[in-house]
Amino acid sequence: MIIVLSKDITPHDKEMVRIFLKDRGFTTRDQVLGDDAVIGASGKGVVDIKELGLLPGVERVAATSKPYELVSRETRNEDTIVTVGGAETPAVKIGGSRITVIAGPCAVESKDQIMETAALVRESGAVLLRGGAYKPRTSPYAFQGLGMQGLEYMKAAGEALGLPIVTEVVSPELAVQMKDLTDMFQIGARNMQNFELLKKVGSLGKPVLLKRGPSATIEEWLLSAEYLLASGTRDVVLCERGIRTFETYTRNTLDISAIPVVKGLSHLPVIVDPSHAVGIRAKVSPVALAAIAAGADGITVEVHPRPDQALSDGPQSLYPEQFEKLMRDIEALSPVVGKELLRTPRPLHGSGHTFSGADTSKNAPKPPVPEEQAVAFCGEEGAFAEQALTRAFGEDAPRIGVSSFFGIFDAVLDGTASAGVVPVENSQTGSIHENYDLFLRYPDIAIVGELKLRIVHCLIADERADMDTIRIVRSHPQGFAQCKEFLDKHPDWTLEPATTTATAVSSIARDGAVKVAAIAGEAAARVHGLKILREGIETNPLNYTRFVIIARREGEKAPVPPSLGSGRPSKASLVFSVPDEPGSLFACLRILSDKGINLSKLESRPIQGKPWEYLFYADVSIPESEGAFGTVLEELKTRTRDFHFLGAYRAAM
Ligand code: PEP
Ligand code: MN
Repeated sequence: MIIVLSKDITPHDKEMVRIFLKDRGFTTRDQVLGDDAVIGASGKGVVDIKELGLLPGVERVAATSKPYELVSRETRNEDTIVTVGGAETPAVKIGGSRITVIAGPCAVESKDQIMETAALVRESGAVLLRGGAYKPRTSPYAFQGLGMQGLEYMKAAGEALGLPIVTEVVSPELAVQMKDLTDMFQIGARNMQNFELLKKVGSLGKPVLLKRGPSATIEEWLLSAEYLLASGTRDVVLCERGIRTFETYTRNTLDISAIPVVKGLSHLPVIVDPSHAVGIRAKVSPVALAAIAAGADGITVEVHPRPDQALSDGPQSLYPEQFEKLMRDIEALSPVVGKELLRTPRPLHGSGHTFSGADTSKNAPKPPVPEEQAVAFCGEEGAFAEQALTRAFGEDAPRIGVSSFFGIFDAVLDGTASAGVVPVENSQTGSIHENYDLFLRYPDIAIVGELKLRIVHCLIADERADMDTIRIVRSHPQGFAQCKEFLDKHPDWTLEPATTTATAVSSIARDGAVKVAAIAGEAAARVHGLKILREGIETNPLNYTRFVIIARREGEKAPVPPSLGSGRPSKASLVFSVPDEPGSLFACLRILSDKGINLSKLESRPIQGKPWEYLFYADVSIPESEGAFGTVLEELKTRTRDFHFLGAYRAAM
């Protein structure tokens, strides 16, 4: 049983809770659960849970039905997000709405090999570096690793490239020696039930990657994680790496079902190691993608610059080109499962993000967003736009919900927010013209990033409601349009439009009516503690909304969201009009075509106050050579009338 204590409990009240439990036959221990201080109580005592919950300083009591408590979702419903690194390297998060990729060789073989591999995997976007300095090998004659020397090489490589490192620890004594050299400990499959090792590593307080033992049941694996949490660490990531079955074709059998099962049983992040699961290089990438599709929070994968010369696990190590392809595939798959691939920004090429053809004073590169500055979105908690914000800026980003789209622009312009998240188009219903027009009304605002959010609609209602009690459905008109086929099956329902999908949900939370349902995202139901009657009711499952991130053009604050990367911009948005004469648009498009610039979107909009005159909105690719792009912009200016450079940013997949 876990007793979650309130943040401001006094030492006296805490002691009273302990005495209360001891008097009733329990032994107690102080523990942490996520960000909360808790008391764990075990033994055969009997207690009135209600009475215990009423003691001063007790926030709630969680009695789990499972043998593990601290790792259980019954004690903590929220996903735990584990942070790795943050001192000499950037802090990298695992869990929540992100996909985190750990890559590197099986073993550190030399200073040059780990440095070369680290540079390669970083270039492809990996955010954590893996590598074994102590290798538990089946044969005593196989390469055992370089030991502490290897770990020092790895630490140097991680620091040089800004990648926190994760490495295997094989004994409690070594754990103490390795503590200051590694950012995350890995407990290998063979050591999953080495309880003395678990206790020692757990007590050091560093993040731990806990592999599943080759013959361990899910329950045994979770109990090993319980050892780590009970010993003091809060940051544990579970890693499914294949179990031993009768099948011998592959090295192990990846238990893909363990991913959704464990994510249901525990709040801890779950990642997958496709390399050790499969053992065959050519099969690693498809299995990695399957893991992401099944809900894994990331992968750890072996990559070697020359796998044929690797001292261990060469046959399962990816070539760098294979890893690059896998990262691109994961990036494309992530929005399908409602997540964003966390990736290291690619290094800047050229002299920065200024293009001679654009008004450079308005497009100066900007440093990263200061943490205390809020990001604006339209709607309230649980809105799709808020999900997009979280994906781009992280769970901890301060946010301001405003009630109109121009409110986002205003907040960014007057400095209330350092950035804003604005929906610009939906894959089914097309452009949100109102927002395109706002860019012209706010010339001091630029686009600095974009992301694509998969929109999954749910029918949400009060706990007591069911499909038969529903008479009224509320949503934003876009919600109705996107769920038309589902709504057509219920012609007796009255549709009531709401300002946003999230406001439709909060209206039910307020009314508590069993007759009313809302169409909105799952997050809105979670925020208000409402029930999901039907999930995935959008007509087309390929339903995406594209959001752009906006920021003020001047000033030193730079709002490029961490997960969208601050690397070389690959896409630009332009607005222009052309002279009213034959071939004028064609002349503009030919400039792009001659330079091999891809036009990914072209749309015309009426110019306000000038009937039958139009502006063109174009999204174009930026070639590797930024100088060439500057020339293109200069040429375009000579062929157009009104020319606005809305911004350059990294394209979302
Ligand atoms: C490793 O990650 O290199 C390793 C030895 O993995 P496992 O413990 O899963 O076999
Ligand atoms: Mn290995």
